[in-house]
Amino acid sequence: SQPLSDRILNMSTSATLAMAAKARELRAEGKDIIGLSLGEPDFNTPDFIKDAAIQAINDNYNSYTPVDGYVELKEAIITKFKRDNNLTYTLPQIVVSTGAKQSLANVAAVMLNNGDEVILPCPYWVSYSDIVKLNDGVPVEVKTTIDTDFKMTPSQLEAAITPKTKMIWFSSPCNPSGSLYSKAELEGLAKVLENYPNIYVVSDEIYEHINYTGKPHASMAQIPSMYDRTITVNGVSKAFAMTGWRIGYIGAPDWIARACNKMQGQITSGANCIAQRAVITALKADSSVVNYMIDEFKVRRDLVLKLLNDIEGFKTNTPEGAFYVFPNVTHFFGKTLRGKTINNATDFSLYLLEEALVATVTGDAFGNPDCIRISYAASQDNIIEAIKRIKEAVS
Ligand code: PLP
Repeated sequence: SQPLSDRILNMSTSATLAMAAKARELRAEGKDIIGLSLGEPDFNTPDFIKDAAIQAINDNYNSYTPVDGYVELKEAIITKFKRDNNLTYTLPQIVVSTGAKQSLANVAAVMLNNGDEVILPCPYWVSYSDIVKLNDGVPVEVKTTIDTDFKMTPSQLEAAITPKTKMIWFSSPCNPSGSLYSKAELEGLAKVLENYPNIYVVSDEIYEHINYTGKPHASMAQIPSMYDRTITVNGVSKAFAMTGWRIGYIGAPDWIARACNKMQGQITSGANCIAQRAVITALKADSSVVNYMIDEFKVRRDLVLKLLNDIEGFKTNTPEGAFYVFPNVTHFFGKTLRGKTINNATDFSLYLLEEALVATVTGDAFGNPDCIRISYAASQDNIIEAIKRIKEAVS
């Protein structure tokens, strides 16, 4: 065996990336796979942002940046937090990182000691549990079901808290369920936390703009009792179709931001300079500049739901944000389709890949073994064809 660390040997491979790799393999064999597994907008980065990056190259932005990001970018982030979320942050409270994923990794590294528990309402974003474990934390899963739109209730939160609870991590809008917590629902959770002043919250709001409710996005840090113990995580990957540019950021209590800055100073020395310049332009623009993408996602959500509801065995709810549906597929468990026995969501997702040539992701990866995740960050034609194939494969 290779002399690798226990740390890496104990880590699971990102299931979404693994599914994408498997789909690529099948494609290389000549199979016509439709990919509905990735959390990646199928739009291009808007031209005004690309132009800002080109300008930055020509203006010779090529040196190391401040570890926590250019001051102009941090100012643009402060303006964005105020404008979009009515949250007041100051420069020492902001840290720019190489994607929201690194923001999360920094927070885990600076907040968790061995054995600290982190409550993860299920389903949760695939990387949370491994980032927590990598930093010696213990993920504590709180199960939810489709009947409650996959949301954790205050009494579930209360029941999950122990003397070792250090943090709660959640995303709203949620990847993978598409659920979002209303202000009142967040207040319900905050009420429980009033009795536990040493518990900190990561509020991952990267899908904030992809919200179909017509109501403003609600942030945990807007609740006065939570502001001093919430780390608000956001980024440009999803809303601005900038996944590959790798820029994410936090707004947090200044002592947490300072610690993240220190951590990042030893790991990456800060995010890419050209991408940072481009994001200044992206964040200064009113978020309505990306409405054309949100409108299209909403049409697709409705299309996916209509088509899925036409297939016996797919139980859906109506996701209010992000670009995923997370149907319950337990109907198929124990059944044999085309000679293949489906015992769980992983079998079912693999079956869809092999027999329908459609890539999805098993709910197991997100801490929910009853469901699969279908991303509708794909063209309407591909969605229609994919769900037609799924229907044929399971009928
Ligand atoms: N948080 C959630 C809930 C996500 O779905 C993703 C990306 O899939 C991220 C964070 C990471 O985003 P970034 O591309 O900024 O690292």
